[in-house]
Amino acid sequence: MVRAVVVGSLVADLAFHVPKRPGPGEVIVTTEFGTFRGGKGYNQAVALARLGAEVTMVAAVGHDAYGDGFLKALEHEGIDAGRVVQLRGVGTAVAVPLITPDGEVGFVQYPGANHQLSPAHCAELPDCDVLLLQGEVTPAASERAGTVIRGRGGIVILNPAPVHDVTPQMLATATVVCPNEVEARALTEAADAADGSGLARAMCNESRSSVVTLGSAGAAWCDGDGDVGRARPPQVHAVDTTGAGDSFCAALALRLAEGAGYREAVAFACAAGAHAATVRGAEPGLPTRAQVDALLS
Ligand code: ADP
Repeated sequence: MVRAVVVGSLVADLAFHVPKRPGPGEVIVTTEFGTFRGGKGYNQAVALARLGAEVTMVAAVGHDAYGDGFLKALEHEGIDAGRVVQLRGVGTAVAVPLITPDGEVGFVQYPGANHQLSPAHCAELPDCDVLLLQGEVTPAASERAGTVIRGRGGIVILNPAPVHDVTPQMLATATVVCPNEVEARALTEAADAADGSGLARAMCNESRSSVVTLGSAGAAWCDGDGDVGRARPPQVHAVDTTGAGDSFCAALALRLAEGAGYREAVAFACAAGAHAATVRGAEPGLPTRAQVDALLS
């Protein structure tokens, strides 16, 4: 069984499906509202657990109802939450996704406890095959975790989202960097990288592979030998792409840790992302291994 550690965010999502985003002074009324647990860290940890990995979560929440709910939910998913700290004087992070009929999502976010996760919370990480890092938490915590696990020879997958949370040190500890197309363009300064394959090549170097996700067009990768490839997701009816990138990263981590090559791992990850896009809300759409296998067959 793959042993995974996720150092990342826990965010309570208060999600609204809206006909359009509000303009200045405008009130949009909608009856389509739901509360979901989310955050890139939570989504990737839950996806990994549903896909069959043994997962340890390192994260911070507040002493509030959302924090209590996260601890219960992680336990319910079979995730080790013993390293999730409940902090005083700060709330659990909250986000308000606004989802328009085209399936696109815009956010307002309160980072709360996620921005108080510290390197000390990552001091004694368990042995693992793969570590997943994202933005949304204190970069110093991610840097510490990445340095420790890379030092032990583990795979370190960095999902550099949001891109402004990502430091050069986080990039330096990553063995695989997995941005979406917008993030890849922001990180490479390779304005001339015309397509996904060019972006993947620009993100890859002698110590790091890259996998760039391209929405419904799938993903491009560049491995350590400089070989570049493309994979496409199965065609699905997409209703909400929240969680697609997180499902993709978790599935990629699982298959790489299982020893799969990039062609196979990226195809599997594309199917995981496609599954997530067919379900409203992030958490309900995080796929099981059986659901990904069904889409692939
Ligand atoms: P992010 O959510 O991080 O912006 P992407 O939108 O690139 O990431 O989606 C991640 C992956 O999810 C894609 O590589 C693809 O495999 C899958 N995916 C996303 N949107 C769709 C879609 N409309 N149809 C099929 N697969 C999708």
